Amino acid sequence: MTVAAIGIGSNQGDAVANVNAAIGALRRLGALTSVSRLYRTQPWGVEGQPDFINAAVLLETQLAPRKLLEALQSLEAELGRRQTYRWGPRVIDLDILYYGEERIEEPGLIVPHPLMLERQFVLAPLADIDSRYRDFDRSGYDPQVGECTPLMPEESDDITQRVRRFVDAFEQTDLIGLRISDTNGDTIELRRARRVAPQGGQGDANGIVSDGAREDVPVDVIKANLVGIAHLVKPVPAPGVQLDEGRELAYVEALGIRNPVLSRRAGRLVAVLIEDGASVEYGQPLFEIARP
Ligand code: ATP
Ligand code: CA
Ligand code: CA
Repeated sequence: MTVAAIGIGSNQGDAVANVNAAIGALRRLGALTSVSRLYRTQPWGVEGQPDFINAAVLLETQLAPRKLLEALQSLEAELGRRQTYRWGPRVIDLDILYYGEERIEEPGLIVPHPLMLERQFVLAPLADIDSRYRDFDRSGYDPQVGECTPLMPEESDDITQRVRRFVDAFEQTDLIGLRISDTNGDTIELRRARRVAPQGGQGDANGIVSDGAREDVPVDVIKANLVGIAHLVKPVPAPGVQLDEGRELAYVEALGIRNPVLSRRAGRLVAVLIEDGASVEYGQPLFEIARP
């Protein structure tokens, strides 16, 4: 998995809708871990065309760079892009800004994007989602870059920003819950959405599924009792299904030995908290089961 930053731009048709449609479609290429605000920007390079709407996202993807570029180009076509001319008006433009730490210089693919540091319309959205660009020195920019104004105000409330940073950090971890308190006793507690293995098929774009109803019966958490690699049994049990007593849900492979994880008593499966093939720690929650 690599985190790639994708720059998005549109200035034809309903540009805001086009950018939002692109953000929606990008979810098919991996997990969107951050989405910037939308910015209205004056055209760069070629004047006399409508203002652009720009944004940027972080995409955690398994696609190799060239495959990612091809996927972006098919999304552009799907969203209605027709070839005009470089820097001319377009329904949608999707550029790879960076791809992890990789440096690529091949025909038709240069990463990081060679002009990104000269473009306010790239750096402003990027600063929203990547702290490394937050304090970037913008003093040296070419005046023709033009104005770049966010369509939504930045959260000015200090607490909101702290919570957002905390959530961003939490999302980078494998933890399913986290609670912190400051010296005033103010506490923030986060719990990860219930997650089902992608093989389950019916997840939303982030692979997260819950069975909807909140529990008002006791929920048991089945935890790993050893360190190893978790394998979900096929077909992967879906949240909501009724489980018999002693049903095998998964096994943890450790030192070549298959250690079954059982439902124990009967109950309704509420959540699958691991992905197939993931390594698990001792005591890590694997399943939640409601016991009537
Ligand atoms: P710019 O690249 O200056 O932003 P543009 O986006 O208007 O210009 P396009 O017409 O969309 O340019 O693309 C021209 C070519 O750029 C594409 O065919 C693609 O092969 C190539 N290209 C090279 N590096 C990248 C990259 N990092 N991301 C996207 N396209 C790239
Ligand atoms: Ca571009
Ligand atoms: Ca492009």
